[in-house]
Amino acid sequence: MSQKKEIKLQGLPISDGIVCATVCLLNNDRHTQSSCTRILPENVGQEKKRLVLAIEQVSLKFDNLQKQVSSKIGKGEAEIFSALKFMLTDPTVTKKLFTAIEKNLCSAESAVFLVFDKFIEQFKSIDDKYIKERVTDITDIKQHLINELANEKDNFKCKGVGTCEHGHNRIVVAEELTPTITCNIDVDATLGFISERGGKTSHAAILSRALGIPAVTGIPDIFKTINCGTEILLNGFTGEVVLWPSEETKSQIEAQNLQIPDGKIDNKSIPGFKIMANISSSKEAYKALEFNADGIGLYRTEMEFIAEESDLNEDIQYQKYAEVVKTMNGNISYFRLLDVGGDKEMPFLNIQKENNPQLGCRGARFLKRRPELLEIQARAIARASVHGPIGVIYPMIVSCEQFLELREMFNKAIQDVPCGELLHGPMFEVPSACFVADDLFEIADFASVGTNDLFQYLFVLDRGNEQLADEYNPDHPILWNILKSLNQSAKKHNKPLSICGAIASDKRYIPKLIDAGFKIFGVAIPAISSVRQAIREIVNS
Ligand code: PEP
Ligand code: MG
Repeated sequence: MSQKKEIKLQGLPISDGIVCATVCLLNNDRHTQSSCTRILPENVGQEKKRLVLAIEQVSLKFDNLQKQVSSKIGKGEAEIFSALKFMLTDPTVTKKLFTAIEKNLCSAESAVFLVFDKFIEQFKSIDDKYIKERVTDITDIKQHLINELANEKDNFKCKGVGTCEHGHNRIVVAEELTPTITCNIDVDATLGFISERGGKTSHAAILSRALGIPAVTGIPDIFKTINCGTEILLNGFTGEVVLWPSEETKSQIEAQNLQIPDGKIDNKSIPGFKIMANISSSKEAYKALEFNADGIGLYRTEMEFIAEESDLNEDIQYQKYAEVVKTMNGNISYFRLLDVGGDKEMPFLNIQKENNPQLGCRGARFLKRRPELLEIQARAIARASVHGPIGVIYPMIVSCEQFLELREMFNKAIQDVPCGELLHGPMFEVPSACFVADDLFEIADFASVGTNDLFQYLFVLDRGNEQLADEYNPDHPILWNILKSLNQSAKKHNKPLSICGAIASDKRYIPKLIDAGFKIFGVAIPAISSVRQAIREIVNS
């Protein structure tokens, strides 16, 4: 029985499904806000021990980072990490931290805030450029220590102490559903997502649809209104969110739920068409096989990095990529090279903060500036291609020159690697590339259209901004003209062109996409059946 009167809120539906459950609030501020937690005198020793352990762990992290940077960038650049370690393990720092715990009777986290914030203040006040620059180092050490103390693997903490279930069998509520959060919670046990911010084609929305988790975004003050454990009804079809739902509302929804056709799997291929699966992790390839997908339409490889929160070495990448290719059993898999930037933050790659990330160092631009990442990935992909054909998709290509340059870098990196069938093609997701489509088809083996970004850049409309969601409507004549013209170029050069933006997973657009000339669709796995049925209806009519 609900204890409060129900409140109905209207948000933006981003992933289908209806669920009623208690919530888990993800506390996004946990690492940035100082909370002075008091402790009992008998717990001083325990807090000191936690601190020593955290210092040891962070030291090890710095050692590893030093090794990685040394081998990939250079010894000089790697020195920064030994300097950080030196500061971190300085006995006077440990002494200050211990004293802070003893004197203030506070937790290890509180001591870190107290001591390091004081250092930062002191360093900032000294009129010396070198010393001022050290503030960044101290902030970095502080952040690492707090992260470590926040409980290594347990990345996301609920606000409501005592009721925390870390998303397990709950609806996860977050201020913004970042790809990192989506990749980190236990998705198998998560019942739904609600966020304050985020658009329909944000990567988090794409991921929740792929995972089949009902989701709603654009509920502004939900964080202030509810606690962990509040019962919520979430309707991912309509965007309605009901706090403390009444028994009557719940039974109405239950009745509606029964009317939703329980999607039968349509797993028969359709001659002349390819319905391929979009995936974000190698494990999803098995699901793609269950739906008898005609290959992988788009493997968002960057999501593997986001899920592991680290930059993956060649062998780990190879294992994941080989798993996908082997599972697809001879059908081609389109692997997109790391598409870093935009709403996909990867702090572990030490990317500089940008004012305008959607227009910054994204996709192809990023790869050109970080050749070591492209080279490692190229080698892993080439090794995996021994097990089956791979199409390499280059993200955010803006011109022929850029595509040629990156393909050259790729080919150079794999000179000594035995490989199988490897094809190369750009993603059409930036308007400038569409203007030179003919030239790109001339030099590429295939291409793929990413309408999520193409629409964003064509209409200068942030795909992740829920407040502009009513204007983010890809059903626009200008977009359709471009799609038709891309198909004409593909036909002229007799090269395959697929479509893998979210529009391809929406059965309402299938007739128009077929009319525009598409025959290859990269689709979110839960949408494969409905897309097949929509195509079948047209083919049989
Ligand atoms: C796109 O932009 O349409 C696309 C498929 O890529 P992503 O959604 O990963 O940016
Ligand atoms: Mg894109």
